[in-house]
Amino acid sequence: MKPDLTRFVRLATDSNPRWGVVESERVCALIGDPFTTWERGEEIGTLNTLALLAPVAPTKIVCVGRNYPAHAAEHAAEVPAEPLLFFKPPSSVIGPGAAIVLTPQSRQVEYEAELAVVIGRRCRNVKPEEAWHYVLGVTCGNDVTARDLQRRDDQWTRAKGFDTFCPLGPWLVTGVREEDVADLQVICRVNGEVHQRGRTSEMVFSPAQLIAYTSAIMTLEPGDVIMTGTPAGVGPITAGDVVEVEVEGIGVLRNPVVG
Ligand code: ZN
Repeated sequence: MKPDLTRFVRLATDSNPRWGVVESERVCALIGDPFTTWERGEEIGTLNTLALLAPVAPTKIVCVGRNYPAHAAEHAAEVPAEPLLFFKPPSSVIGPGAAIVLTPQSRQVEYEAELAVVIGRRCRNVKPEEAWHYVLGVTCGNDVTARDLQRRDDQWTRAKGFDTFCPLGPWLVTGVREEDVADLQVICRVNGEVHQRGRTSEMVFSPAQLIAYTSAIMTLEPGDVIMTGTPAGVGPITAGDVVEVEVEGIGVLRNPVVG
């Protein structure tokens, strides 16, 4: 972790989720929140003793299809001339360690390792060269997809939208510059074995271009998530698997799969 980066976690409590800030393995309470101003509070535990939630609660999750040419090719699909956007619902979000629950509606649920970008300030109609000013940070995302239903449906709301199909985390990393995410390795492991290994430099549309394109359609709110697409190597997960998404220098998001 580079020294100018800060890792924020959200923690379950009896009432509302609370924020924490990570310092090596220790977690301190946050007074304030990462979107506005904050101060470090008392130490509240260590990473391996605290239950982490997804590090954001988005009002929407905007995803892009076929943003890595090699992934488009494995589905014999063209790289689109414009970003191919779709949504995942906020109800699909789970945090690190939470189970991806397979659905009896699908016989082919697949992982998609992605860099997830978190919006920090409300924006509309931003230019690509201004877009990163509105970014709070990044995290790891898994765009879990019922591939058979995606093929069957013209719209992907069902295939992409089941509860638990959007793991995010383990933390929100802030202080990341646009150039810091331009060439990061994006990896997916299933049961420890590498299935995807791409680089963000392969993206057809950069995160800033995706934010600009999306913000010309809809207002982006603080906490909204842009899922930037997945590299080649997608494949199925089954009950009992453990799937990990790693974005180089950002973190490892680990989720078990249950039937
Ligand atoms: Zn995806």
